[in-house]
Amino acid sequence: MCRHLGWLGRPVSVASLVCAPPSGLLVQSYAPRRQRHGLFNADGWGVGFFDGAVPRRWRSPAPLWGDASFASVAPALTSGCVVAAVRSATIGMPIEASATAPFSDGRWLLSHNGVVDRRVLPAPSTAESACDSAVLAAVIFDRGLDRLADTIVDVGTADPQARLNVLAADGSRLLATAWGDTLSLLQRPDGVVVASEPYDDDPHWRDVPDRHLVDVSAAGITVTALEGR
Ligand code: GLN
Repeated sequence: MCRHLGWLGRPVSVASLVCAPPSGLLVQSYAPRRQRHGLFNADGWGVGFFDGAVPRRWRSPAPLWGDASFASVAPALTSGCVVAAVRSATIGMPIEASATAPFSDGRWLLSHNGVVDRRVLPAPSTAESACDSAVLAAVIFDRGLDRLADTIVDVGTADPQARLNVLAADGSRLLATAWGDTLSLLQRPDGVVVASEPYDDDPHWRDVPDRHLVDVSAAGITVTALEGR
């Protein structure tokens, strides 16, 4: 499983979310604390952030820990909405920047921790890569993020082995699902972090129960069960 992180709040630097925390995504690229599948995340990284309403992305198929350019520039990248990920590729999936989250339809940024059998997915209109996560992202974009909960339940029903932790943001809303892997939530005075695992030992981190949806916006934070709605 990969590891991902989303931020919605006051503008902060990408470095403050990814590089500075003692167990941030940079450290999680080689020493994740809660990862159940895969030992580390060396198959690429991606950072997406909103520049006004425009999603911008920087992705690489190389390990995050070795990227001196990212370490240099990340303190200067600031945004109120960020989606970042480090990747541990599923066996058989291509290792290329276009297979690395976050994926985008030009409006949303989306990351997937997990695995899904592509044969159960409807053919999407377009996908950035043949990677299962890229195809799943395209299916979610096609159906619309307002139907994310339905899509996750439908895909999870069609592939009971699937792990479907999805994180998506559009600049003013952050959505995340827990389906088969860990997910945690931290409400800070200046915003909300949703991440595969806590980036530090702050006691305010809350674990999101499996098969739940987190929805963060100016209206607040809701955590609801995906099934039986
Ligand atoms: N299946 C996706 C990939 O190959 C995600 C893998 C993961 O979550 N580790 O990239």
